[in-house]
Amino acid sequence: MARKPIIAGNWKMNNTASEGVELVKALKPLVADAKCDVVVCVPAIDIPAVKKAVYGSKIKLGAQNVHFAEKGAYTGEISANMLKEYGVQYVIIGHSERRQYFGETDETVNKRTLAALAAGLTPIVCIGESLEEREGGLTEKVLDKQIAEGFKGIEDFSKLVIAYEPIWAIGTGKTATAAQANETIGYIRKRVKKLYPHKNAGRLRIQYGGSMNAGNAKELMAQPEIDGGLIGGASLKPNDFAAIVHFDK
Ligand code: PEP
Repeated sequence: MARKPIIAGNWKMNNTASEGVELVKALKPLVADAKCDVVVCVPAIDIPAVKKAVYGSKIKLGAQNVHFAEKGAYTGEISANMLKEYGVQYVIIGHSERRQYFGETDETVNKRTLAALAAGLTPIVCIGESLEEREGGLTEKVLDKQIAEGFKGIEDFSKLVIAYEPIWAIGTGKTATAAQANETIGYIRKRVKKLYPHKNAGRLRIQYGGSMNAGNAKELMAQPEIDGGLIGGASLKPNDFAAIVHFDK
């Protein structure tokens, strides 16, 4: 079965609820005929307002993190069921900024991913190497560890999305070449299939993330291994984000 492309915006800590509603209002008509899955991953506090704003459109709602416990004494955290009750369908897990600034590890990524899946959310799990690691020839080794430790216990890979995000390409304007992204995503797919055979790994969707924009989306999305994009900066501009959604035009 062909893998349906998925373009997801990561607003990060941008847009108040009212700004988010304005952005969605502008975006809705621009993506009304989208053929791929379109997602906006918004700050948690924006969720109620953006939920209303996306109603009746192609745009699906996503969050940017989730805690792994069902409930309890975890001040400041948000559970998968809390997101689910608000109509959230997707959640980014293990973004490199969370790994870098908030102590996220492959182990916590794994716990959050299993909790999100158990609640019926679709995790978008981010993996990727730093510039130092790529230049040191360590990309595959780093990815192997992230795949082995981050995806333990997953029963069905058709129910999650992986975002391959080379850290050196995030927010830097430096995109991996289409060939580099395709090759590395091909490697990730091969590795997941090898480590998790019989877990529907053939239906796993893998996005590229890292300075994807209106100008380079077409070439990146034309690569056979690339099933979508996780978009930071360009997702804050409705016209740019819509142009990426329409990569096939
Ligand atoms: C991201 O934050 O996931 C990302 C890919 O950001 P940008 O598109 O701005 O590089």
